[in-house]
Amino acid sequence: MDFALTEEQQMIQEAARHFADSELKPVAAELDKTADRQLLLDKLKQLAELGFMGINIDPEFGGTGADTVAFSLAITELARGCASTALTTSVTNMVAEVIQAVGSDEQKSKYLSKICSGEYAAGAFCLTEPGSGSDAAAMRSRAVRDGDDYVLNGSKLFISSAEFAGVFVVWAVTDPEAPKGKGISCFLVEAGTPGLVIGKAEEKMGQKASVTNEVSFADCRIPAVSLVGEENKGFRIAAGELAGGRIGIGSLALGIGLEALDRARGYIQEREQFGKKLAQFQGLQWQLADKYTEMEAARLLLMQAAWQKDAGMQFGPTASMAKLYASEKANEACYTALQMHGGVGYTREFPLERMARDVRITTIYEGTSEIQRLIIARHLLEGVR
Ligand SMILES: Cc1cc2nc3c(=O)[nH]c(=O)nc-3n(C[C@H](O)[C@H](O)[C@H](O)COP(=O)(O)OP(=O)(O)OC[C@H]3O[C@@H](n4cnc5c(N)ncnc54)[C@H](O)[C@@H]3O)c2cc1C
Repeated sequence: MDFALTEEQQMIQEAARHFADSELKPVAAELDKTADRQLLLDKLKQLAELGFMGINIDPEFGGTGADTVAFSLAITELARGCASTALTTSVTNMVAEVIQAVGSDEQKSKYLSKICSGEYAAGAFCLTEPGSGSDAAAMRSRAVRDGDDYVLNGSKLFISSAEFAGVFVVWAVTDPEAPKGKGISCFLVEAGTPGLVIGKAEEKMGQKASVTNEVSFADCRIPAVSLVGEENKGFRIAAGELAGGRIGIGSLALGIGLEALDRARGYIQEREQFGKKLAQFQGLQWQLADKYTEMEAARLLLMQAAWQKDAGMQFGPTASMAKLYASEKANEACYTALQMHGGVGYTREFPLERMARDVRITTIYEGTSEIQRLIIARHLLEGVR
């Protein structure tokens, strides 16, 4: 078994690390405090120019053409610098992936280069609704065919980057009579389409610079060619892409957790109490050893899921395990790292309180920890079902 990264994977990891160190770390606290949109947009544009908005997209469409392992490595490094920017990058890559995987040739030519080049600041993934989060197939948004168009009506909630996204991947019910999940279709809606209404931005605990909006559709008319894949077969697109997205969110959680631990490792080697460096207390040494071990295990699970995806194997259950484990353990790592800083860890002088807030959402979005357990258990107990 070969754990070595390829030259391309190493290059992408190093480029992401360099960008995080030089461009994200210096502004992460400010982005958290002010949620300065223009600053975020500038960073997203730079990331697009470096090829991070279409990491897995074919170069024919302006992408980097790298594999999922490289995607995971890049998101981890970016998250070390700024979780909000990493999240926006991860979701935009997921939107591009939907189009690459299921879009028509026309849709690929029309949208992928705009996402990859940064002409579109971001892409938006519109699945969650006020009444359907974990139970996404219970969505109520409707798309009704009318001549050469579809007319969309309904509300979506918690849509990342909606305020500045150039294209929205939207799921809506096209056959209300079909069994649950069987009558849902997937569409592409361009920003600025009449009837596409971007609502308020949520005030959040963390990842404050990433933007999370309500989105509604009021008689929003889109051409029939906006349908992605086949009519009534859209829900499986969402399920498939979310599995890939979970590698992104697990990688993001890993980056925040590792950064917090690195800060704690440095701090306890400097700070003295009881006439000794904190690092000389075995109680802290063992906590550090445990947390780094968990982060390394998370990294291996993520790498396995990414490798399975690249090899065309079933990767959904591993991606769920990786997301579950990485996000839960990264939360613990951030709390441990904050604790090791004592009182200063709780202040804004240090980045630990931001990291503890930023990491919290990773056990919730793109499927909560409970939903990951449900997916894993279903896989394990297939015979029972
Ligand atoms: C900052 C942020 C960004 C987001 N970005 C996007 C985005 O870009 N696009 C998008 O479509 N969505 C997005 N979401 C939505 C996110 O994916 C959902 O919030 C998430 O899937 C959970 O859905 P919910 O909030 O409705 O919680 P609910 O589904 O109401 O769940 C509430 C609680 O019940 C638990 N629960 C639910 N069902 C079960 C079950 N069967 N067994 C055990 N426990 C269960 C859940 O785990 C959770 O703890 C975002 C959310 C946030 C907060």
